[in-house]
Amino acid sequence: MDKKIEEFLSNVEEKLEFFSQLGIDFVSFSSPSKESPFLSLKEKILHCQKCPLAQGRKNVVPGEGSLNTELVFVGEAPGRDEDIQGRPFIGKAGQLLTKIINAMNFKREDVYITNIVKCRPPENRNPHKEEIRECCGYLLAQLELIKPRVIVTLGKVAADFFIRSTSGMTALRGNFHEFENIQVMPTFHPSYLIRNEGNKEIRKMVWEDMQKVMAFLGKK
Ligand code: SF4
Repeated sequence: MDKKIEEFLSNVEEKLEFFSQLGIDFVSFSSPSKESPFLSLKEKILHCQKCPLAQGRKNVVPGEGSLNTELVFVGEAPGRDEDIQGRPFIGKAGQLLTKIINAMNFKREDVYITNIVKCRPPENRNPHKEEIRECCGYLLAQLELIKPRVIVTLGKVAADFFIRSTSGMTALRGNFHEFENIQVMPTFHPSYLIRNEGNKEIRKMVWEDMQKVMAFLGKK
């Protein structure tokens, strides 16, 4: 993970100031309802112009799902279908993610699904470091509100955001890593599974990762 982001996270005062800059009423975090601060955060995201990705987007894709969940899935960025509809993971890869979630004994609406950056990069390229730096405060604020027990990262870009390591996906996956007292399980992106449809080994690895998540959350 980027050293600057880590330093930022370790400094509570800076964090509070950052959320305040986002227009989030931090006092209301202690309220039993997450709805109101989440809605104000969503409004901020929907109108954001902080990075160049704002120019090419059709829709911002803040994320969707339950705010009271223990499990959050994080990908790298919206793709074409997501940009058109303003919803995360709804294309072919999203349909596969939904199947994986169902196989884990969850409904899609029981979990929260989002991305590191909330606007589509051109031609589905990986988001640049500067774009991630501009956007990541929204994701951190979402996690601060939801307080999940587990984050499943989908693909290398999302894994790299939470885990400070130079290892590749194959080495990172299969084990929990810790981020701000949240267990992070990195696994392959569903679009990687689709691109390697005939490769049963990759599917098996993803399922092994999800079974560890299920065991941790008492789902098996
Ligand atoms: S990617 Fe994030 S920081 Fe950039 S314009 Fe979209 S919401 Fe704002």
